[in-house]
Amino acid sequence: MPELPEVETIKLGLQKYLVGHKILDIDVRDQKIFKGDKKNIINAKVIDVKRVGKGLIIEFDNDYVLAIHVKLTGQLIYRGRETENIEVSKEKVGSLPSKFTHVIFNLDHGANLYYNDIRRFGWIKVIQKEELKNLPFFKEMGPEPFKDLTLDKFKKAIQSSNIPIKVLLMDQKKIGGVGNIYANDALFNAGIDPRRKAKTLSESEIEELYNSVLKVLEKGLEKGGASELTYVNALGQTGGYQNHFLVYGREEERCLRCGGEIKKIKLGGRGTYFCPSCQK
Ligand SMILES: [Zn+2]
Repeated sequence: MPELPEVETIKLGLQKYLVGHKILDIDVRDQKIFKGDKKNIINAKVIDVKRVGKGLIIEFDNDYVLAIHVKLTGQLIYRGRETENIEVSKEKVGSLPSKFTHVIFNLDHGANLYYNDIRRFGWIKVIQKEELKNLPFFKEMGPEPFKDLTLDKFKKAIQSSNIPIKVLLMDQKKIGGVGNIYANDALFNAGIDPRRKAKTLSESEIEELYNSVLKVLEKGLEKGGASELTYVNALGQTGGYQNHFLVYGREEERCLRCGGEIKKIKLGGRGTYFCPSCQK
């Protein structure tokens, strides 16, 4: 699932290309994904795009917003005059629209915003701006790295929890934006076994982990996200972090630190990768 670096990369692309456009019409091909009354944003102009955890908010010049979660396989791809010469990823996107295009926003100046989703777990909601804080997704979001997740808050979340540290890192109600890729890589970077009960971490281990979370997320952002599954940026292009995974997805490959073998186990139902020698 796209995590903080991937969704932030989509956000930056939408900020660049979508802001200033007016929505002329919306072709909703799958009602399961699109909720709310589209009339509320027809002829409204996009004034900003924000990210909350793994969620996106498109703000309009009236009282409405679009709240979006791409979940596992959602893609938001902008096509307009200024992107005519930019090719979308053939492998991850293909043609536009495709049979996986479930919503098309027709914008002014002949531009379009496509929402594709192979698995169809994502959602798009038209709601009033002031209703946003009542959406469970936003209401329950924990503090986020680079925003309000201070070392102190991180410490408190860890020291008060008895679940495996990796499962805690991925709990959006405790820490917003970190998912499976970056939780695995951050724990490797900090040399901490993902199975350890959170409250057994020492003060120095917590600090090391805090810095490691920021470090791997920064690397993810710098590489434009990880194109696992179907992730692409707002121009339909792949990211590059998948070529820099520390342990994630590297089962039976060599540890980058000690040369030992990376192991894969299941933890909280998710694939968990670690080096048994380097992570204690
Ligand atoms: Zn190792």
